[in-house]
Amino acid sequence: MVDVLFVPKNDPQGRYARKPMKRYAWMLSVMLLVYVGCAHPSKHVHHKVPGPSDIIQVKCCKNRSPMMVQYLGVGGVLMRSSHRVAVLTAPFYTNPSLLHTAAGKFVAKTERLEKNLPPVHDVLGLLVGHSHYDHLLEVPYIANNRIHQKTRVFLNQTGKHTIALTLPPQRMVAVNRFAATETQAGVWLGLPSGKPWSPQSKELLKILAIRSNHAPHFSALGRKIKLYNGTYRKDLKTIPQQAEQWREGQTHAFLMDWMDPKQPNKVDFRVYYNDASSDAKHPEGNGHVPDAVLRTKSVDLALLCAASHNLVDGYPEHILKHIQPKYIALIHWESFFQDPNKPLRIVPGYPPTRLNPLVKRVQRWIRSSSPQTQLLLPFPVPGQKLRFLGTTAQ
Ligand SMILES: [Zn+2]
Repeated sequence: MVDVLFVPKNDPQGRYARKPMKRYAWMLSVMLLVYVGCAHPSKHVHHKVPGPSDIIQVKCCKNRSPMMVQYLGVGGVLMRSSHRVAVLTAPFYTNPSLLHTAAGKFVAKTERLEKNLPPVHDVLGLLVGHSHYDHLLEVPYIANNRIHQKTRVFLNQTGKHTIALTLPPQRMVAVNRFAATETQAGVWLGLPSGKPWSPQSKELLKILAIRSNHAPHFSALGRKIKLYNGTYRKDLKTIPQQAEQWREGQTHAFLMDWMDPKQPNKVDFRVYYNDASSDAKHPEGNGHVPDAVLRTKSVDLALLCAASHNLVDGYPEHILKHIQPKYIALIHWESFFQDPNKPLRIVPGYPPTRLNPLVKRVQRWIRSSSPQTQLLLPFPVPGQKLRFLGTTAQ
């Protein structure tokens, strides 16, 4: 059972209550978990029930515009300023079962997406940190049906090759060549143009891709194992239908800046986002922002992946130490092997108790290194909104 941090005070519909599993389902789960080498079955997460009125108000930030940040599940987040400058990071609703993921074929379940994805027609860009199926599978549908037909997808080169059949090349920006590292500045891209940003462009949103890496998926027999590695160098002739065909490519984190409409060179709100836990010493990049960038503006909100945090040393502290955000929200923590409208669970193979040490570690880091930082608890549940109030009348 998870600890008190995740137990709702009020769950009138019993949506998040533990329900006994039927014997066959339990046996199947055990077999599947053994198959993928996971040591612990998933458990229900007791959590606050999300709903349209379930908005968490955050008193941030003085002399800034209000921001709405809505967690959509897995790596999906919709962020929209009071000036209606919005961006979307790739959500995931298809959620094939563990058996299907391990041994079957699957395509995007668009009816689930339509049921759950809020209006996103106004977003200026769709961002994808890496190209595993739980981040890229639904991107073609969203790009062709839910966002403006000129809005671009920002993804890695492998992702561009993977979904080349579904979108014209001008709608996809492979961010690899623009990406920053801890020591290289990188190139900020303006949205919606996808071109290098400058104050003269008058674009109110800019993004910086940052080279990062992807944690292993699980450990078994003392070994850490990462799935679906690799890249593509040519456009695929068919859309993948098996999990292993959705290759990771280069993983990126993103920095996103909402610019002040009255002062096009001034950042109003800055978000750091990653969709994979990262190792601090990985040769592909560690997700650290160049110091020169941080000197110009601190990070207001860090949206950090929780999945597999326990499989990389020193995560997320190495990121936190580096970016020193004002607020932290942990995302990508719930299972994506079941219907997203069923009671939430933590990712299989991922003991629920592991999330509480994560919370405690982040809180310990805050106490010792950055007392002004606030960890937003409980974890946002899919659909939940965080409203950063700002103090600028709009
Ligand atoms: Zn992944």
